[in-house]
Amino acid sequence: MSAPATDLSAAGTRQAQQARRQILVTSALPYANGQIHIGHLVEYIQTDIWVRALRMHGHEVYYVGADDTHGTPVMLRAEKEGLTPQQLIARVWQEHKRDFDSFGVSFDNYYSTDSEENRVLSESVYLALKDAGLIDTRDIEQAYDPVKNMFLPDRFIKGECPKCGAKDQYGDNCEVCGSTYAPTDLINPYSVVSGATPIRKTSTHHFFRLSDPRCEQFLRGWVSGLAQPEATNKMREWLGDAGESKLADWDISRDAPYFGFEIPGAPGKYFYVWLDAPVGYYASFKNLCEKRGIDFDAWVKPGTKTEQYHFIGKDILYFHTLFWPAMLEFSGHRTPTNVFAHGFLTVDGAKMSKSRGTFITAESYVTSGLNPEWLRYYFAAKLNGTMEDLDLNLEDFQARVNSDLVGKYINIASRAAGFLIKRFDGRVQDGAMDHPLLAQLRDAIPHIAAHYESRDYGRALRQTMELADVVNGYVDTAKPWELAKDPANAVALHEACSVSLEAFRLLSLALKPVLPTLAAGVESFLSIAPLTWADAAKPLSSTTPINAYKHLMTRVDPKQIEALLAANRDSLQATDASAAAPADAKQKSKASKDAPAMANAAPETPDVISIDDFAKIDLRVALIVDCNVVEGSDKLLQLTLDVGEERTRNVFSGIRSAYKPEDLKGKFTVVVANLAPRKMKFGVSEGMVLSASSTNEKAEPGLYIIEPQSGAKPGMKVR
Ligand SMILES: [Zn+2]
Repeated sequence: MSAPATDLSAAGTRQAQQARRQILVTSALPYANGQIHIGHLVEYIQTDIWVRALRMHGHEVYYVGADDTHGTPVMLRAEKEGLTPQQLIARVWQEHKRDFDSFGVSFDNYYSTDSEENRVLSESVYLALKDAGLIDTRDIEQAYDPVKNMFLPDRFIKGECPKCGAKDQYGDNCEVCGSTYAPTDLINPYSVVSGATPIRKTSTHHFFRLSDPRCEQFLRGWVSGLAQPEATNKMREWLGDAGESKLADWDISRDAPYFGFEIPGAPGKYFYVWLDAPVGYYASFKNLCEKRGIDFDAWVKPGTKTEQYHFIGKDILYFHTLFWPAMLEFSGHRTPTNVFAHGFLTVDGAKMSKSRGTFITAESYVTSGLNPEWLRYYFAAKLNGTMEDLDLNLEDFQARVNSDLVGKYINIASRAAGFLIKRFDGRVQDGAMDHPLLAQLRDAIPHIAAHYESRDYGRALRQTMELADVVNGYVDTAKPWELAKDPANAVALHEACSVSLEAFRLLSLALKPVLPTLAAGVESFLSIAPLTWADAAKPLSSTTPINAYKHLMTRVDPKQIEALLAANRDSLQATDASAAAPADAKQKSKASKDAPAMANAAPETPDVISIDDFAKIDLRVALIVDCNVVEGSDKLLQLTLDVGEERTRNVFSGIRSAYKPEDLKGKFTVVVANLAPRKMKFGVSEGMVLSASSTNEKAEPGLYIIEPQSGAKPGMKVR
């Protein structure tokens, strides 16, 4: 399993002889509860460029994708919107497909993991693993929501951080102090779904026995073929030294209620979404095979000559380099030829942020009037085939598009085409096609094609722009605008314009994987068939006149960038159901702490909220009518509050270390009145009292209840 070598010196000659390869390519499946944003697009654009570059060799290439639809977040999101999960995922599929089409992502098939093909394939993979003795069942204890009657993934439990006491922290790590812990360590834990205090409950789970020596032995061999040294190193770290396998068994089942596929022979147990998601690659391909009459089995059986590549984010390497190849190997399938991981996207050097407007959705980019190929070009210029993060610097984005694409490249055509049409009937001078400048460009094309195949798009584009500089130097020296002044120079003018235009054709060929729409415009302008790599050697001919030049690409207007940022700042204020739910919260196995969903870029962190967000919190002045210690708790006080309602409220507060009950009785404070009631061990808490403490409580202990100035009355709104 090694990627075909690309020996640059021989690439030119070999390319012509290269046998027609059969190649299946995938991108990670986006989760079906949110919009496609520019962080996602890094991966789809990266994959699409690769796929297009390989198709231009004439290989049989299939690029498949699907929405990743199963799991708890989709189930709860649908419930919140009053939809069935199927209705929700059908709508999201339309949105995702629209966005991919806008950005020229050329899937041969875009499908869904909630498909019959996927059910059949997932079951057969599972049953084959079971036959191989690689499936175990064992009882595990888990957090359970006694009100909603469901087991709770870590991301659906919140509580106070055991280290710093910050409230409303997730079950696995604290966003205030950064500590990590188990959900069982949380103080006053509650279910995000119902507000109830989770209980512990035992259930039987199904495990894929990754710790089996057969899996370890297989993976140790498989790892050596990975293209990226960083990925190989990560794998070796996970595998440990020979003989001391560090691989843990993988929990592949979840209990009802769960949106997914029921496990055969195990009523009420469902495949964990991460089991059927990668199988979804094959399900989408199988669906394509049925539509096009391709022999699916011939592509996925062991020993096949076909190639299979997965493009993914570096956060889900674990799933694609351990679980997925092992699942395939031991269920009678071929294994991936290679897995290509990329880094995360930052915007202007920081995580994408809703408050800064840099959490840019694919849709908003298009509706703000920006050309999707600008972004394809910019990402390509920054991609080099490693797992490094990449930055979208918006100033650099404008500068590169305007100076490289429009200034250096497009202008070559606009300068030459006018004279050719007006003076020479739109026909090139055939003799000019042998010009040494053009030979230089033609020689470079196989190298550029090879850089695409090795995923070093940055290098491919640098080389292309260097050639554009050379061409512009030629035009500046030939000075067609000077030649045009004297009819005696007609032959020289014809040559200069012909060389320029053929050079433009070759540069367009070099850019075609990145700019497919623009390339189509060039092909129509030059009246030529769709360009392939082999066309480097087929120059323009005087037999086919070119068409009148129409503008092929405009410059980026800074106003468009402003509109884009404004559009995405606005979207924060619009009520978005995904903001309320833990949007990226697919269940996490122990093995995948940092892998919440299959295709997610770095999550945004809103550091500013709108006034509308603040208005959602109903803050009221409360009179502490009564206050008591809670038997059995050394952290809590029980407060009886008058919040100006007909009855008093019962609130538990973790302030016992700071106050005695008699300190607080008769005092006023501020309470969050519209917090969902929380069922706790000692009773139901109907609100939250506000208090102040240092962000670093270890260095600066102390906790202070907020108290309004005198005159405030119970029930008054704080705003
Ligand atoms: Zn903390």
